[in-house]
Amino acid sequence: MRYEAPNTTKEAAALLAKEKGQAFVLAGGTDLIVRMRLGMTEPDLVVDIKNIASMQGVTRTATGTRIGAATSGAVLGENKALIKAWPGVVEAVNLIGSDQIQSRCTMVGNLCNASPAADSVPAMIAAGAKAQIVSPKGRRTVAVEKIVTGPGQTSLKKGELIESITLPKPLPRSGDAYLRFIPRTEMDIAVVSAAVSLTLERGVVKKARVVLGAVAPTAVIVPAAAKAIIGTKLDDAALEKLAKACSDMCNPIDDKRGTIEYRTKVAGVLGKRAAKIAFQRAGGS
Ligand SMILES: Cc1cc2nc3c(=O)[nH]c(=O)nc-3n(C[C@H](O)[C@H](O)[C@H](O)COP(=O)(O)OP(=O)(O)OC[C@H]3O[C@@H](n4cnc5c(N)ncnc54)[C@H](O)[C@@H]3O)c2cc1C
Repeated sequence: MRYEAPNTTKEAAALLAKEKGQAFVLAGGTDLIVRMRLGMTEPDLVVDIKNIASMQGVTRTATGTRIGAATSGAVLGENKALIKAWPGVVEAVNLIGSDQIQSRCTMVGNLCNASPAADSVPAMIAAGAKAQIVSPKGRRTVAVEKIVTGPGQTSLKKGELIESITLPKPLPRSGDAYLRFIPRTEMDIAVVSAAVSLTLERGVVKKARVVLGAVAPTAVIVPAAAKAIIGTKLDDAALEKLAKACSDMCNPIDDKRGTIEYRTKVAGVLGKRAAKIAFQRAGGS
């Protein structure tokens, strides 16, 4: 296996494109190295992106926030401006693993590992996050919900890697939230998760996005759940409709960590709770 640590995204993309065998990007390595140790992935080339300056750090732009693909969860959790703008996204990223994992793991690694239970993905989608993809042929920007196509599968083509994620500047009176259910209090993967992002106008929900994780092969946007709360002050009837829409959208697996019936019910409960938190964060009462 060859290991390369280029200094630019262009070089990284060229290395990935040229490799005839299996090539993988290495960010924090908290998924990739585990898979390699278990013999599940045997790369011919590993391209470490942590030396690439444009892939590090959080920057404010005219339209929002840019997060370099190699920025760790711990760094995001210390960024006060990001927490203020998108608390739900930061809380989702910071739920990944332990302190040790946080010091390595990245949001983009979480996305590209393409686990249906990835914590940061529903929150990024609810926030309207976009991924900047680079290849030797150029750049393209894609909505985060278009990246994962199934468990372990992404829409990235050979020679492509993600350089950054951008989050839009939140509209006034907006809030977001992310919740997951795990059978124990720490270090487990979501059995069900829900992210909600919403904007208020005169105390009424004007815009909303509701996204579920771990209940289908990929994170799912639930337009009917958003519709249920738009035009309301999040009264009980609206929340019940949102919960039903979330449960109706579920297509979960059935295993010892949660039956289909259980996951379907919990999706509605978490959807409601996340909506209430997002509503409060937006200044609703
Ligand atoms: C003990 C432990 C606990 C964990 N707990 C959780 C948890 O609670 N919730 C959760 O969601 N996950 C959890 N994970 C999984 C893992 O930590 C996360 O998915 C993490 O965000 C992966 O980020 P990374 O930077 O380490 O990715 P890496 O392992 O470096 O990469 C993961 C995959 O993404 C690809 N990739 C990385 N960066 C890019 C890029 N820029 N462009 C294209 N492809 C890229 C890699 O090639 C690889 O296929 C846990 C893992 C461990 C070991």
